Amino acid sequence: MAGAVRPTGGWWRPVGRAQARTLAGDAVADRKSTREDAVTITTSLDDLAAICEGRVLQAGDDGYDEVCACWNLAWTHRPAVVVQAAGEADVVYAVRHAAARGWAVAVQTTGHGVTVPADEHSLLLVTGALDRVRIDPVSRTAAIGGGITWTSVLAAAQEQQLAPLLGSAPHVGAVGYSLGGGFGWLARAYGLAVDSIRSLRVVLADGRVITTSPQDEPELFWAMCGTTGSALGVVVEMTVALHPVDQVYGGDLFYALPDAREVFEFYGDWINRAPSELTSAFNITAFPPLEMVPEPLRGQTFAIVRGCFAGEMEAGRELVDQWRSWRTPLMDTWAPMPFSQVAQISMDPVDPVPAASSGRWLATLGPQVPEVMLEAIAGPSPMLFAEVRHAGGAIRRDNPAVSFAARDARYCLELVGMIPSAEADAELERRFEHAWRRLAPHLSDLCGYLNFAEGTERVQLAARAFPAETQARLAAAKRRYDPDDVFRHSISLTAPVR
Ligand SMILES: Cc1cc2nc3c(=O)[nH]c(=O)nc-3n(C[C@H](O)[C@H](O)[C@H](O)COP(=O)(O)OP(=O)(O)OC[C@H]3O[C@@H](n4cnc5c(N)ncnc54)[C@H](O)[C@@H]3O)c2cc1C
Repeated sequence: MAGAVRPTGGWWRPVGRAQARTLAGDAVADRKSTREDAVTITTSLDDLAAICEGRVLQAGDDGYDEVCACWNLAWTHRPAVVVQAAGEADVVYAVRHAAARGWAVAVQTTGHGVTVPADEHSLLLVTGALDRVRIDPVSRTAAIGGGITWTSVLAAAQEQQLAPLLGSAPHVGAVGYSLGGGFGWLARAYGLAVDSIRSLRVVLADGRVITTSPQDEPELFWAMCGTTGSALGVVVEMTVALHPVDQVYGGDLFYALPDAREVFEFYGDWINRAPSELTSAFNITAFPPLEMVPEPLRGQTFAIVRGCFAGEMEAGRELVDQWRSWRTPLMDTWAPMPFSQVAQISMDPVDPVPAASSGRWLATLGPQVPEVMLEAIAGPSPMLFAEVRHAGGAIRRDNPAVSFAARDARYCLELVGMIPSAEADAELERRFEHAWRRLAPHLSDLCGYLNFAEGTERVQLAARAFPAETQARLAAAKRRYDPDDVFRHSISLTAPVR
């Protein structure tokens, strides 16, 4: 490691490499390997690097840029130090090191949803190596590492004909996604991912490691479940309920863009009759003219009806047949599919891209909604797609164990664009603002969906994601678990921005 910073104070009690390795044992495989009384605090980077099993890097070091990189290329972390945690013990050492030096701790699993990027006054903890998964088919749960993506959880769960509540893209981090709500293709049937969290193993700001659940340390569990992560601690392990789903009837119907208004109208009627096994969306996508996009879609704009029916295949086919007899689509990919293939429904990009998204919960739909979506996507535009997801069903179930609050909304609208340049970024921002202004009459009271926003917008939306009494309770949890605001690269729990 180049140019290590010398001790600035504090104290350091050496532990040997062997002990450090024991402490760094995998949390899922061996919980006992982390001593909850470990009190090692390092204040020099050399010492931190010596004790950590994973890499400890600062700007200028080989690998620093690569370890700090975000999936969303629009964001850059530039921390004083980045720690690529190899296990729970590395997380403990890193958090204690940062706290001792007065730095903030930022956390990244994939960089799909950066909230406040790490700066020179912070330590960035990269959790991607905490990627173990253990399925218990009897209790129908998965104990998963804090840095795992849904891809491997989905594969392991499907071997037991079980499914986690992942979203449209399996390569998104399971923890960040779930703590922000987690609205996927099984949401109306089984609920949001946040409602399937059974416990969290968390490294707190003072380096303590505790397991929190609705039964143990319930206030911490409540506060973390709904606030998108990294405001109260680092999750090193999460246990989630799995659901008995191995085959679904899913896919996309593609209609010509000029038909979009009529498709939307029929969609409104269709979902009014839909059972909760069906989670669906009306989408308008302007597929970019890029090689990564398959030929029939490349450079074309379509109105799309997509979704997933988690019930009897025949019932799913009958539901989609209503569309087929209403108007023959240009393309029709709805069919029985193993749930392991669920990523095919949204076809989200897998490789890193510079992107921005903005989302709101809607209380009502009306003709203005497709108008605003069409306006947002009208080219030339950096907007990639506009999508209304049908909410309700199991999403509405009250869950007092979690702070996630937007239960009553009936729909969720997301706008997503590509921002390869500052001009595109400014134009997209303008289109987001315009769309939300026009749709104000349709927005829910708690309209902020934090998962569908990043950066400043995510921080600001927090004020519109929780009712006042929830905000007051979150502020109390923050004062209790992170009084020095070590985890400040997150939404603010004490002062939601209005
Ligand atoms: C292509 C794509 C598809 C998506 N599809 C959906 C969808 O269908 N439904 C939906 O609800 N959302 C969806 N999202 C949004 C996604 O859920 C959020 O962006 C989420 O925050 C990403 O989490 P991450 O860990 O992958 O990203 P990161 O940027 O690594 O983390 C996001 C936030 O979580 C925190 N965090 C991550 N790991 C930990 C941890 N171990 N401990 C504590 N805090 C942690 C980070 O500090 C950060 O604040 C999608 C996003 C993309 C880019």
